[in-house]
Amino acid sequence: KSPIIEVKQLRTSFQTDDGSIPVVNSIDFHVSPGEVLGVVGESGCGKSVTSLSIMGLVDARTGKVEGEILFKGDNLADASEKKMRKIRGNEIAMIFQEPMTSLNPVFTIGQQLTESLRVHRKWGKKQAAVRAVEMLKLVGLGRAEELLKQYPHQLSGGMRQRVMIAMAMICEPELLIADEPTTALDVTIQAQILELMKDLNKKTDTAILMITHDLGVVAEMCQRVIVMYAGRIVEEGDVRSVFQNPLHPYTVGLIQSIPDMRVKKDRLYSIPGNVPKPGSQNLGCQFAPRCAHAMSRCISETPALTNHENGQKVRCWLYEDGKGAGIHDSAIS
Ligand code: SF4
Ligand code: MG
Repeated sequence: KSPIIEVKQLRTSFQTDDGSIPVVNSIDFHVSPGEVLGVVGESGCGKSVTSLSIMGLVDARTGKVEGEILFKGDNLADASEKKMRKIRGNEIAMIFQEPMTSLNPVFTIGQQLTESLRVHRKWGKKQAAVRAVEMLKLVGLGRAEELLKQYPHQLSGGMRQRVMIAMAMICEPELLIADEPTTALDVTIQAQILELMKDLNKKTDTAILMITHDLGVVAEMCQRVIVMYAGRIVEEGDVRSVFQNPLHPYTVGLIQSIPDMRVKKDRLYSIPGNVPKPGSQNLGCQFAPRCAHAMSRCISETPALTNHENGQKVRCWLYEDGKGAGIHDSAIS
């Protein structure tokens, strides 16, 4: 299937006291109908700014979006706000993490659920309510007619997230952007919500961009994954290859920090150090300060994203020219 969205050399920068700083730095990716692409990285790696760029939600007074975001032939990177308003919540929908969700406390679930149908499709109240009930049932919420009259505070966190998914899916978007959709939920509810999204993805052929810091979510949901670090893609490939054979030292670290339920560890492994502040370091590999394999050239020369076996790509001097001994013998113990 040809991609529903194709992002080419996307670069989103923000004006600061130190000048214009790129938070997303020349990234490329695409998602096809029915496909779930994972975008993974720690907070501050640019993954949320990527989704805001696609949605046209980067404030033009402080931020600048360059490159191409081709959605059904149009470049959204330079689309007008009027056009974006037609697309948002209709052709491209978004689900946020619970604390950021935009369920409005003063409106009923019914009012909020039917709004996009009334705005984008000019549906009447009754017709929209019928569809809202259908959607609530589809996301596994019982007593749907009653729910329509309730307010967000009357629902549990898991129910609210189901409502958010129903809201996002009600106009049958071609692309769904899910930004940490289950992070705020407890483990059981998280599993249920992921299961639900997988199910909806199968039924509707909606393409999903799954943004998460959690590789467990990627393993559960995605076919392909891109790993972001400090605004750049450092590794990409199909999920099975990346999990079986992670190439970039950062990806190796992320995989080692997945909690393993079978082996109870005292403490979670985590990669020492933090994601650098955007723009703080321009030369060399951004990961070098945290990398156990850093060589002298890593400090002075920026590696490119190069092709590797099995369609994997990696941005690391250990794999120059698609060869490279890699790090597997020494890094994974
Ligand atoms: Fe580590 Fe060098 Fe590879 Fe960067 S380029 S990840 S510093 S080995
Ligand atoms: Mg984020």
